Amino acid sequence: TESLASRDPELFGSITSELGRQRDEIELIASENIVSRAVMEAQGSVMTNKYAEGYPGKRYYGGCQYVDVAENLAIERAKELFGVGFANVQPNSGSQANQGVFQALIKPGDTILGMNIAAGGHLTHGAAPNQSGKWFNAIQYGVRQQDSRIDYDEMAALAREHKPKLIIAGGSAVPRQIDFAKFREVADEVGAYLLVDMAHFAGLVAGGQHPSPFPHADVATTTTHKTLRGPRGGMILTNNEELAKKFNSAIFPGIQGGPLMHVIAAKAVAFGEALRPEFKAYAAQVVSNAQALADQLMKGGLDIVTGGTDTHVMLVDLRPKGVKGNATEKALGRAHITCNKNGIPFDPEKPTVTSGVRLGTPAGTTRGFTEAEFRLIGDWIVEVVDGLAANGEDGNAEVEAAVKAKVAGLCAKFPIYPGL
Ligand code: PLP
Repeated sequence: TESLASRDPELFGSITSELGRQRDEIELIASENIVSRAVMEAQGSVMTNKYAEGYPGKRYYGGCQYVDVAENLAIERAKELFGVGFANVQPNSGSQANQGVFQALIKPGDTILGMNIAAGGHLTHGAAPNQSGKWFNAIQYGVRQQDSRIDYDEMAALAREHKPKLIIAGGSAVPRQIDFAKFREVADEVGAYLLVDMAHFAGLVAGGQHPSPFPHADVATTTTHKTLRGPRGGMILTNNEELAKKFNSAIFPGIQGGPLMHVIAAKAVAFGEALRPEFKAYAAQVVSNAQALADQLMKGGLDIVTGGTDTHVMLVDLRPKGVKGNATEKALGRAHITCNKNGIPFDPEKPTVTSGVRLGTPAGTTRGFTEAEFRLIGDWIVEVVDGLAANGEDGNAEVEAAVKAKVAGLCAKFPIYPGL
């Protein structure tokens, strides 16, 4: 019965500080969002107490009748949202969703073909330090030098040469729509499964603002916490019944034990929200906002990789201003604009330095920002970057303080979690 505030003031303090940070700062990290009170309520519920190894109706524990309701709701809503026949909502994260697919479809030593992390791919797509790069013969495709778009010719040539069992499309810094049909064609030619990892753009697919990976993909994985605006977690989707059975066995008992039933309950809530008409408008606004922000940054003299974006995310090439990604992330942070440094394709700088930052609009759009606010934010970013360009790594403290004050004004106009 004791509240968190009195039971553990030290920990409680970290949460209230984090709430304050989220309220007072402009969140431009492309993989983050701001979930609803309803999602948080489900995630903070008694379902955290329940062991439920297995699947609805086939559990290894008693007393699962109510968590079964929650998981069935999550499954049915996910199927409706993405127009697929099967959904596994148990992966604890996007990485574990991918691991589950690997466990189901391939064996250690098999060849996989995924996008290079330096070109925008994800760790789990075959990067050397990741299990996917250590346990499989991971071949990596990238983007074209001339326009930073996915190099489909290279991908096809590598597939023909190495005959992967699994081809992966998708990534963490891919601003443009991916040609799923092209990937399907190559997968068919070499007899590979096609996995589309839509972790980043799943919310745009759900909101009808981005082509679906289906019917091209054999399987799609996603996180549930990015554009989809749910709790942190993962999910596997397919239309293939045989594969669906393999994915279920791969997640449990293959790589996970008891599912996080409180998180699955929160996934159900988020999927229900995404099925509402408002979510279509949200997803459309996310894309318009990203395009407005990219345009404003280019007007301010920055380059945008590929010259813009079709999605929620953009990669800013800082080289025209002669500043680095790490210093820019820090300077923007001092002005209460949060983002992450990110390598740009063929980046001459180390991953700890980088020539770019990655920006995204999902969280700001949830707050209520439209194109006008994102154009202002674009101007503020340029002001801070120009301060860095003129003054070196320490930036221009006066400019940063002025931007921080403007950020505070904007955040106050678009409050989050009132009353929390
Ligand atoms: N796949 C892609 C494309 C991602 O961007 C991410 C998130 O960073 C993941 C998978 C992994 O998700 P998680 O961080 O939940 O393990």
